[in-house]
Amino acid sequence: MWSYSFEIPTLLVMTILLVFFFSRPRLPLKKNLLFIQMIAIETLVIIFDIAASVADNNYQTVPKWLVDNLNMIYFIGFFTRAFVMYCFTLSVTRASIILKPYIRHILRIPFYFGIVVSLLSPFLRLLFYVDESGFHYGILYPYIYVVGFSYAITSLILLRYFHKDMPKRESYCMVLYNIILIASLIVRMALPTTLLMDTFVLIDIIIVYLGFENPEYFLELRSTVFNSIALREYIEENAGKMDYKVIGIVVHRYQVIREVYGANQTDVGLSLIGKYLKQFFPKNKIFYNRKGRFVVFVDPKTDVEYACKNLSKRFRKPWKSEEAELYLTPGFVTIDLSENDFTADEILGSMSRIFEKAGNSESGEIFYISKADVQKNKTDTLVRRYLESAIDNNTVELYLQPLVNRRGRIVGAEALARIKDFEGSIIPPGMFIPLAESSGRINEMGEQIFEKTCSFMRYLMAENINLDWINVNLSPVQFVRTDLAERYSAIAKKHKVDPGLIHLEITEESVVDESFMTSQIQALGEKGFKFVLDDYGTGYSNLSRLKKCPFINIKLDKSLVWGYDKEPDVILPNMVSTFKSMGFGITAEGIENTKMEDDMKGIGCDYLQGFLYSKPIPTSEFIKLFNRM
Ligand code: C2E
Ligand code: MG
Ligand code: MG
Repeated sequence: MWSYSFEIPTLLVMTILLVFFFSRPRLPLKKNLLFIQMIAIETLVIIFDIAASVADNNYQTVPKWLVDNLNMIYFIGFFTRAFVMYCFTLSVTRASIILKPYIRHILRIPFYFGIVVSLLSPFLRLLFYVDESGFHYGILYPYIYVVGFSYAITSLILLRYFHKDMPKRESYCMVLYNIILIASLIVRMALPTTLLMDTFVLIDIIIVYLGFENPEYFLELRSTVFNSIALREYIEENAGKMDYKVIGIVVHRYQVIREVYGANQTDVGLSLIGKYLKQFFPKNKIFYNRKGRFVVFVDPKTDVEYACKNLSKRFRKPWKSEEAELYLTPGFVTIDLSENDFTADEILGSMSRIFEKAGNSESGEIFYISKADVQKNKTDTLVRRYLESAIDNNTVELYLQPLVNRRGRIVGAEALARIKDFEGSIIPPGMFIPLAESSGRINEMGEQIFEKTCSFMRYLMAENINLDWINVNLSPVQFVRTDLAERYSAIAKKHKVDPGLIHLEITEESVVDESFMTSQIQALGEKGFKFVLDDYGTGYSNLSRLKKCPFINIKLDKSLVWGYDKEPDVILPNMVSTFKSMGFGITAEGIENTKMEDDMKGIGCDYLQGFLYSKPIPTSEFIKLFNRM
């Protein structure tokens, strides 16, 4: 009665897929295991479908117990397959983590019931029975469709709600997969005697294979090692659960190497390294993380230094093949991944930073990544997001800290930038200025603060509030821009503010290249700007160089002020009197109490800045404070 002519080629294709899949390296990821279950169960279903069909067609000659059992096993397989295919959707949508456990338990009931019904069928004729006239459907036979359709439809519903976190390609694959599953059930109902359903399921398996499981998708460097996608997924699935150390190996100055040897040769060299690492770490997972970086997961007890020393030895010889001969040197990083609750992105972000360092350092030392490094990287990532958003939306805020003269009157102010997190709490500049400098966005940020300062100055003038000047900080990154004078002067002009009212604070870092500094200061000076040397005492100071600089004021760093407060000496007073004799005004930063105030006045400072007078405050508060003092 059954026609199983489609089953044989289906089984053949399945076999090819199986052999190919198992011959390649695989990662022990959950969806990988589910995929293996899926192909295993489908292969069994096909085999038992064929066997049961042969038995049913020959019911007169085959013993009844055998016909019964083959059919029973086929139905068990049928329910299990429906369930496993649904579990795959559950896993890839991550609904298995998000859904409440009781909902997941309820959703298992149709499957369990199907197994019980199958086991009882030879006795109670529920799904089928076999008598003198052959195979017949039982009263509960339609239940197989109920289970088939309900799991496929549930899967589509899960996809509808949980597809957002999935890559687009994967979610399309999964929709198609479930639609084909539904189509296969409809075909099975319409053509019950033509065993076509397995062919449809095979198509589904191929879709999953191409969409998710294709091992090539996870492999790199002529298939020797896993790639960075695999690395991310592996860490993501095991983060916090794995007891691993990671050894990272990076080819020194990878970009230069690539230029010197060319892309093809370099790739050959890298795949040779990949192969060597596989021999060196035969039982470990090895990944290639782009840019000449390899990542190996080792047991936490591994002696990393010993391993790196041995690896270094191999690097002293060239990497040779018929096509190439490369001389490379390695850098090493290591991180202990046991007991942490960082995400894959956080771990990979820190690794990437340290890899960068190790790839440029010639010392051959091993760079250790501590939990504090990952934490710092995590915070930086967050701060970077707030910073980008503040600069993009021009919401970097202008705060002012008063500068008072020797009589305690506010005569000036320092403009200080503030950004806020999405909850509205202030992030200190110590956290975001270095990030803005390293990304170059300090240019925009500095300009926004400068413009806000000009606009505020204009407002003060209109209100007849007499503030003599405002200091604005200029980062060394900004200071090297050749169009700085033009831009700042244009902004001051736009707000009708005399540039002489804005004093630019630069640090000694900016003064390193003397000839450039001279021309830059000259260009800005011609536009009317004045200069203040900030944070004096923290860097490398050079009196003769200072002599050449047209600073109007030198700001003593708070560390000098605090040091003098603890342990007065003759150095600071002498330094101040020397500067004064050279014509510089002096500002003391970090005045926190009246003793510091008295000390600094005592040694001759002209202006004072510190929490004793006020912390940096928003412009509106600054006006109130100015009117009060
Ligand atoms: P800075 O230019 O030396 O600014 C003085 C810093 O000392 C300010 O820190 C100020 O709040 C702090 N300070 C002043 N008096 C006291 C005191 O009595 N006690 C203590 N503990 N601290 C005091 P803030 O605002 O956190 O800024 C830190 C640094 O960030 C600044 O140091 C400056 O280098 C940089 N920065 C801030 N705003 C900008 C900006 O708009 N552009 C640039 N390029 N750098 C900025
Ligand atoms: Mg400053
Ligand atoms: Mg300072």
